[in-house]
Amino acid sequence: MKIAFFNTKPYDKEFFEKYNQSDEITFYEVPLNPQSIRLAEGFEGICVFVNDKLNSEIILTLQSLGIKLIVLRCAGFNNVDLNAAKKAGIKVMRVPAYSPYAVAEHALALIMTLNRKTHKAYNRVREGNFSLENLTGFDLHLKTVGVIGTGKIGEVFAKIMTGFGCKVLAYDPFPNLALQAAGIEYIDLESLLNHSHIVSLHCPLTEATRHLINQQTISQMKDGAMLINTSRGALIDTQAVVEALKSKKIGYLGMDVYEQEENIFFNDLSQQILQDDTLARLMTFPNVLITSHQGFFTEEALTQIALITFKNVSDFEKGIASANEL
Ligand code: NAD
Repeated sequence: MKIAFFNTKPYDKEFFEKYNQSDEITFYEVPLNPQSIRLAEGFEGICVFVNDKLNSEIILTLQSLGIKLIVLRCAGFNNVDLNAAKKAGIKVMRVPAYSPYAVAEHALALIMTLNRKTHKAYNRVREGNFSLENLTGFDLHLKTVGVIGTGKIGEVFAKIMTGFGCKVLAYDPFPNLALQAAGIEYIDLESLLNHSHIVSLHCPLTEATRHLINQQTISQMKDGAMLINTSRGALIDTQAVVEALKSKKIGYLGMDVYEQEENIFFNDLSQQILQDDTLARLMTFPNVLITSHQGFFTEEALTQIALITFKNVSDFEKGIASANEL
């Protein structure tokens, strides 16, 4: 199939070229938007990523260009108007699971770095400063970790934290049977927030979960708790979190995703003036660690993303029903 890949980086090209067997693919660095959409002309399918917004207008244009298939090289699909795609007769497929370990382990990396401040120690020692002043951390052992959303990633994360000797509490409208069997306790959201030293978000972004962490739910958290978000930025009302950091209600924030990450994350903006004042404010806190949506970024995950995306294309061409269809 002839597929136009939007919003690509050199690593996308590397992995997709490595595993491509029969498709005719073209890589565009530009994101998919009203200005770039004409590049999809002459293709049958397009491949997009997390921050390409496929609203009804874009979908109608894709339909008029003859696009039959949208393949998402990611799990989340909150950026696609699925109803519009359905009406336009365009199939949408995703990669629901590629490596839950990649994201769960990144959540742990954020926790460990914020707690033990290895990023600060690294810089200090390089400058000949061997002082331990202000590097105090805490034992994870016996701390309570609240996991919101216990699907594929939340399950792996909960198991990792259990391995550290933490008490894990979970909140999910559809409890995970394997975790329940392993003795993980499911409780309501407020109780989870009340009791957790660390709260980690692993649910999808939906209308029900948008700003799940807001002024009111933050007030239910333990004073000085650590908040980790590797899921989707808009699960958090960022402005409310900034206020909670200022008042020290939230003691640590680790975020791999950000509400307004589009056009910022994944790009080298080091020579530009950052226009996002909220992100700029977040970057000033000594107890905030921001990574730019790299939770998925492991060799294993990139390999699976490429293989599953090509399998999705092939299933579509052969008319094989797929569980990856949305
Ligand atoms: P999943 O579908 O396996 O699990 C999601 C879980 O969230 C399900 O158990 C579901 O019941 C639960 N859930 C739904 N609504 C909820 C609510 N209101 N409160 C609590 N739980 C709720 O998904 P997954 O593969 O574990 O991925 C989770 C999320 O991680 C994705 O939606 C995506 O946004 C994010 N993600 C981030 C990265 C990254 O690079 N940072 C990579 C992949 C996925």
